[in-house]
Amino acid sequence: MRASWQERFADSPDVLKSVRQPQTVVPVLDFHIGGGEFIAMAGPCSVETEAQLMAAADHVRQAGARILRGGAFKPRSSPYAFQGLGLAGLKLLARASREFGLAVVTEVMSEEDVPLVAEYADILQIGARNMENYALLEAAAHSGRPILLKRGMGSTVADLLRSAQLILDHGNPNVLLCERGIRTFETALRNTFDAASIALLKLTCHLPVIADPSHAAGNRELVPALARIAVAAGADGLIVEVHPNPAQAWSDGDQSLDFAGFDQMMAALEPWIALRGLMDGRRPALESLPPAQLAELQPVRLQTVEALQ
Ligand code: PEP
Ligand code: MN
Repeated sequence: MRASWQERFADSPDVLKSVRQPQTVVPVLDFHIGGGEFIAMAGPCSVETEAQLMAAADHVRQAGARILRGGAFKPRSSPYAFQGLGLAGLKLLARASREFGLAVVTEVMSEEDVPLVAEYADILQIGARNMENYALLEAAAHSGRPILLKRGMGSTVADLLRSAQLILDHGNPNVLLCERGIRTFETALRNTFDAASIALLKLTCHLPVIADPSHAAGNRELVPALARIAVAAGADGLIVEVHPNPAQAWSDGDQSLDFAGFDQMMAALEPWIALRGLMDGRRPALESLPPAQLAELQPVRLQTVEALQ
C-alpha cells in the first residue's frame, strides 16, 4: 500500500491492509463475510409486528439473503417518531432467525442495552448517529459479537476507520464497515452514496465493507442501481430494507423494496457478482449462471479475460 494512505489514516494503523493482514473474514453462524461470497442482509427498517417480520424473513431467505435486518431500538430523525418495539422486537427477530435459518443484525443504541441485544443478535449494528459514541463502541466491542459499524452522515473515511480501530483496540477484530450515504449539498436524494469510499476502503483496509443502498438513496427506485454500483466498487455485501407492504411501513417506507422489487434486485445483481468473481479470479464461476444471462455476458467476459492477460 502507498505510504501516503498510511499517513492519511495514521490514527488507525491496525485496520489497514498489510502483507500480514490482507483481509479480515468474519464468521457468522455457518458462513463468512469478507471471504469472497457476496452476502445480502435484508429485512424491514423496524420490527413492527409478528406477521410483518415473519413474512419478510421468509421472503428474503428464499431470495438469497443470509442475514435478517430489523430495528428493535430505532434512532429516528425525530425523537417523537416510533422508537421501536424494544425487547419484544428482539424476541421476534430471534424467532424469525430460528424459523428461517437467518442470522440477525440489529441496532444497539446505548451501552446499557448491549448485553440484552447481544443475547438476541448475531451482529450488532452501530448506527450512523452513534459512530463516534465511543462508550457504546467499547461496550459493543466487549460483547464479542461482530459489529456492523455505519459511517456517520457527516463523517470522513478517516473518522470511520478511527472508530473501527477503537473496536479492534478493545479486543474485537470482527468489524464490518458500512457505507450508507453522507450529507452533501445535494438534496435530490436522502443522502449522497459515496461509492468511491467503498473502493477506497477495499484498497486500503482489510475489514469487510457492506453497502446500504436504502439509506443512501432514500427512494426505492434508486436502490437496485446503487446496489449494482456497490458490487462494482468491491463491496463484500449489502444491507437492504425490504417490507411486505412498504406503503404501510412504520419507518422508511419510501426506501423499502417490496418482495417483487427485492427479487428483481437480487436477480439483476447476479451477473455483476459473477463478473466480479471472474475479475478477482474467484468464485462463483460464470458457468453457474442461467444460459440466458451467460449469453448476455459473453462479450463482456471475453473483453475482461483479454484485459487480464
Ligand atoms: C437503519 O439501518 O435503519 C438506520 C437507522 O440506519 P442509519 O444509522 O444508517 O441511519
Ligand atoms: Mn431505516
